[in-house]
Amino acid sequence: MRAVAGFGMLLAAALVKSQAPPEASGRVEVRTEPGLAARVYVLKNGQPFRVQPVEALLPVKSDTYYRDRLWLEGADPEVLEVIANDLSHYFLLKGRANFHLPPGKYAMEAYRGYFYEPVTVEFAVKAGGTARVMLPLQQWARAEDWISADDHIHLTRTERENPVFLAWLDAEDLNVGNFLALQRKSDAAPQYAFGKAGEYRGRGYVIRSGQETRNQAFGHVLMLGGERLVRPMSTGEELANTPEDYPFHSLLFDVARKAGALTGYAHFREVPVKSTFYMDLALGHVRLAEVFQFGVLTMEPWYELWNAGFRVTGVAGSDFPVYLQRLGGKYPRRLPLLGPERALVKKRAGAADAGDVFGAWAEGVRSGDVVVTNGPLVEVSVEGTEVKAVGTFFRPLEKLEIVGNGVVVAAAKGDGVTKRLTASVKWERGGWYAARVKGKAEEGEPEAWGHTNAVYPSGAVFEYGARYEIAERWAKELQRYREAGMKWGSAEREREFFAMGEKALEELRRPLMR
Ligand SMILES: [Zn+2]
Repeated sequence: MRAVAGFGMLLAAALVKSQAPPEASGRVEVRTEPGLAARVYVLKNGQPFRVQPVEALLPVKSDTYYRDRLWLEGADPEVLEVIANDLSHYFLLKGRANFHLPPGKYAMEAYRGYFYEPVTVEFAVKAGGTARVMLPLQQWARAEDWISADDHIHLTRTERENPVFLAWLDAEDLNVGNFLALQRKSDAAPQYAFGKAGEYRGRGYVIRSGQETRNQAFGHVLMLGGERLVRPMSTGEELANTPEDYPFHSLLFDVARKAGALTGYAHFREVPVKSTFYMDLALGHVRLAEVFQFGVLTMEPWYELWNAGFRVTGVAGSDFPVYLQRLGGKYPRRLPLLGPERALVKKRAGAADAGDVFGAWAEGVRSGDVVVTNGPLVEVSVEGTEVKAVGTFFRPLEKLEIVGNGVVVAAAKGDGVTKRLTASVKWERGGWYAARVKGKAEEGEPEAWGHTNAVYPSGAVFEYGARYEIAERWAKELQRYREAGMKWGSAEREREFFAMGEKALEELRRPLMR
């Protein structure tokens, strides 16, 4: 008995010993100033270096079934490590941490969303010594004026992960994370609850459940922030467990909107093909389209929607973790992991800070008051007979342009130095105006863009020629569906789809006033 107890004590001592810093390592006390959460990297000889200890770990190895899980040690972690493509991203969830490192010279980089300038601090570690690293986080734009969102994040979430995920949003300075459930055969990236019951928020940040509903012949659609999960989440042979391409998206959108969800299409990367986008556009289901994703901003097909008289709000989202997989190779560390492209809504004057952050963002999306960006900031306003635009960035700007009804009507060029550009133009016929800005990108980074949604100075929506084109495209798609061997399940359902498709075509062919 005594021998057993003694052995137990030895074992306990060995365990404690194994968790202590290695002999001859040095201690590094890190903090940000002013104490904000941030994403950091430690570099040795210019190469990313691993740090310890971390208390939360998310290894991301996406196989498109979205089952990556967060591992936690203890209930209150200070450091989250996300490993993707063999690179470790570290998050100081409380703006501070203690690491131990082998003696040597290092640099530490810190990033916090898109409104703070990246910072690099060099330091040295001595055996048995303590190095203190202070990372000054400085805003180049007023983060507190904006609500920023990623509309498309796939992460499995139970209540257990909430505090860590929210602190991660904080470290990326991303106010709204739309966590989307989906289905590939079984449910993927499931959320424990929907609506207010599934909302987790604090300090101006919020996680809200939503869903991506998919059919490989109709396209991928978004239902954001709804009070309920709308089933089925997938239809069709490839993603669901039944061959039927039914119910089609138009029917599911009706249910989603009754549940209070914001609805629209994901992956709006080009003119939609193999997609019921134009059908749902005509039927009034497309409140939003994801125009900025995977580092690419889609402009012309977006303008075409406005030129056809449809006030579709362009939004942005990462499709995390798919984004990381697509990047592969060397990660451009300026980009946040969550919200590498984001949809910004400006806070209304006098709105309560601690209020309903998701609700305020959703309201901005509904009213089309959204800026999409992967860095530069741009704003457009109407003052009397003038449309004015201003672009800003922490790096030099290359150009600022005002687009009116699909054509560049005013522009300002950068000089390689200036970080602020302005432009203005008198509006005449009305219609829509928007502003876009391009900033300097470093090698290996995607182009840096900011783009506003449309403003309508005369208040009226006009048609600028695109409606006919869209109608003819939808007519072709409809014909394609007739010949594609779709599995409707019954003749009645087939009639239902084509009746709705024809109704959409009629609406698209109806001329608007000019
Ligand atoms: Zn998708």
